[in-house]
Amino acid sequence: MREARDEAGGRPEPHHRHDMVVVGSANADLVVRVQRHPAPGETVLGSDLAVHPGGKGANQAVAAARLGARVALLGRVGADGHGRLLRESLERDGVDLSHLHDTPAASGVAMIAVGPRGDNSIIVAPGANSLLTEDDVRLAAPLLRAAPVVSLQLEIPLPAVLAAARLARRPVLNLSPAMAVPEELLALCDPLVVNEHEAAWLLGDAGDPARQAKALLALGPRSVVITLGADGAVTAEAGAVRPVPSPRVTPVDTTGAGDAFTGALAWRLALGESLAGAAAFAARVGAATVRGAGAQSSYPTMAEVETL
Ligand code: ATP
Repeated sequence: MREARDEAGGRPEPHHRHDMVVVGSANADLVVRVQRHPAPGETVLGSDLAVHPGGKGANQAVAAARLGARVALLGRVGADGHGRLLRESLERDGVDLSHLHDTPAASGVAMIAVGPRGDNSIIVAPGANSLLTEDDVRLAAPLLRAAPVVSLQLEIPLPAVLAAARLARRPVLNLSPAMAVPEELLALCDPLVVNEHEAAWLLGDAGDPARQAKALLALGPRSVVITLGADGAVTAEAGAVRPVPSPRVTPVDTTGAGDAFTGALAWRLALGESLAGAAAFAARVGAATVRGAGAQSSYPTMAEVETL
């Protein structure tokens, strides 16, 4: 793993070496392809099992690290085989795991059935992720305070998310999975990142993305990004709403595109880029991601993004 040196080239500076910290989940994705989804009470035979590293937090961390970001992940995994798989995949991409705690519980698991048209049904068993506490977050306060950006999602307990947002210099929140959150958390987000479905859920109303972005801004966040699949994204801050196009690609598998987008966005904001510039970069990363199968396995390097 790369380690930043202090100015004298001496010992690593443990709390000044990250572009961003991700506070979030790591799950083993257990994927089975099925001809059709089982009805309640029914059993269907599926394909062989494939096990992939996933979880929104780990995905964001890997997406950013693969692009060259210096990232730490704060979270919990079980001291089990899935936990080892998750650690290994994160380590391969150079994510700092000094705040990823082994926990006496099963690692988080997502059981994913994929139908013939790519239609997913997913059950998440949060396991170790659900044991991340406010105290875990407070103990990492120096790490969180030092990072230019802290990236958050909602697959870990809300009190831990809120504690991290309070400590962060710039919290980026992907409000996914969609759920009610305290006004204080919304007000800290810079930006709040949602997809079209989450935006409609928050507003109780689908509609024109630019109007939705303004309406979301009125809920309190300092800035907003709505991702729109093949249509890119829209950003909103201080009244300025900007469309962000996505490069045209032939999609193979969109799994994890939102996590790649948010990880890339958070990193570019950490480097000091404008919201619109960071979102334009993130849209290229999202587009590169949907060209390949799987989540983390399809995340691009910087060289791959540059070819788009
Ligand atoms: P998922 O739940 O599949 O991870 P999401 O619904 O959270 O994704 P999307 O809006 O689908 O997020 O995708 C995130 C970004 O990825 C988009 O803003 C866009 O830049 C890019 N993207 C997604 N799908 C496509 C596509 N078909 N063509 C080009 N870019 C895409």
